Amino acid sequence: MFYTDETAADAMEAAHERAREVDADADAMDRHADELHAHEARGFCSHFGTVGYLPTPVYAEQVGLKPGEHRCTGGCRTVFPSEAAWIKASTDPFAQPVKKVTKPGSTPLPAAQ
Ligand SMILES: [Zn+2]
Repeated sequence: MFYTDETAADAMEAAHERAREVDADADAMDRHADELHAHEARGFCSHFGTVGYLPTPVYAEQVGLKPGEHRCTGGCRTVFPSEAAWIKASTDPFAQPVKKVTKPGSTPLPAAQ
């Protein structure tokens, strides 16, 4: 934004400051993505996806879950006792590394007849 009482230099400095902040944020995201890729390349799960309990499961990975539980679909099939537990694990998958046991994804069940 440019106000009439600002000089062009003020506006340019503000624009450059915003660009530096964006660059720093992008660099931090790139570093985090590289760390996650390396973690996965070593065979560990980053818990990027999950399915939750449903009374009538629609994915094979939901079968056997109890209300509130979530099963990781990132490749480890870990059952988390709550969504909050999954969010904590996926936010920092390096804290308690879990090996992948299968390909990532979920398997739709045949629709009920
Ligand atoms: Zn996982």
